[in-house]
Amino acid sequence: MTAGETIGSLPFEDVLTQARGLEGRGGTPVPAGAAALTDLAIAGPAEIRAVTYEQSRGSGAALMSSGGTTGRPKLTYVPFHQAVDRVLREWRPIGPDNVVLNLFNPGRLWASHYYIQALAEKSRSTVLPSGGFAPEDVGHWVPMFTEIGLDTLTGTPSALADFAEGLIASGETLDITTIIWLAEPWTDAKLQTVQKAFPDARYWANYGSVETYIIATNTPDCDLSTLHLMPDQVLELDDAGALLSRRGDGWVMPAVRYRLGDRLSSAACRCGRPDGLRVLGRADDAVSLRSALFSVGEVVAHARTFAGVDEARLVLTRDLESPKAATALTLEYSGDADPEAVRAYLTAHFYHLAAVHSRFPGAITAQRVDKVSRVERTNKVAPAVWRE
Ligand SMILES: [Zn+2]
Repeated sequence: MTAGETIGSLPFEDVLTQARGLEGRGGTPVPAGAAALTDLAIAGPAEIRAVTYEQSRGSGAALMSSGGTTGRPKLTYVPFHQAVDRVLREWRPIGPDNVVLNLFNPGRLWASHYYIQALAEKSRSTVLPSGGFAPEDVGHWVPMFTEIGLDTLTGTPSALADFAEGLIASGETLDITTIIWLAEPWTDAKLQTVQKAFPDARYWANYGSVETYIIATNTPDCDLSTLHLMPDQVLELDDAGALLSRRGDGWVMPAVRYRLGDRLSSAACRCGRPDGLRVLGRADDAVSLRSALFSVGEVVAHARTFAGVDEARLVLTRDLESPKAATALTLEYSGDADPEAVRAYLTAHFYHLAAVHSRFPGAITAQRVDKVSRVERTNKVAPAVWRE
């Protein structure tokens, strides 16, 4: 990507006003003579926590966290309105006639479940705050879902695929017209399962983070994985993580050059709306294996393109000398592909992994499993897990 490339635009004066307003209320100091966005300091988790804490005094907040599966949770004081009014100005997937199943896991300071509850409330829909279902449990619930007129599902692609798989196995059907997904990318296998179970559903999506809440939206008129930046925001693209700035009120938090954890690219969309973006992957996912540097996201994405690999993750054996270095890599996958063929497919594509494979036989392997393990808190598949 080009250095200095942005998505969306904001007058610098507006960002500067925002930055000066946050100075002394948890934001970073504004340098004298700042004349362009790049003159302002980059903000991270410490600023988010301080700024949102200051903002919440007197009005209260729900404390939400990103991360925390490993390492210390990053906290955000989220106002109870959750910025839903901002989102509904341009994105309105549900209304008073819809009955919505909320498949996002509740609790554990994870925001998505509560965002969907607020979205349903503001849209005057009926919502069932259920959390996810194991596939074998879905069949028992179908008569009740039919009776109440369930027509909308919301969840991660993993939770939606579990629900669809359970419905297909039960031999029942549900008349689902709307699917709202967020928080992880689709795999081909998950999308096919959901499309098979719900052939008439239209897809809506959001992109954001626990700290920022919704940044961008996607509608049924869009390419499935292209999202549009909401107005009053600008994103600076950067391989170390895109930077978000905003103006105006009604967001869950103000932002001046806040570093997101994802690498993004600009993208055209079939709907013709401006400010399209794609999520390329995590910014901090570089790992070294026996001195060969690779991106976890790129290796997992490539593995998923092999016929017979439905879902995949990496299990990395930690090099005790160095925290982001591994001595061995196992690609754990579900599907009917042959493990040695999957291993060969990976090392054929990533030439420095091929070099590791020839120098250290057994350092790179593939292993078939019935089901790839999920993160308990979010029901998502983590691209990589570490083994000590
Ligand atoms: Zn679009």
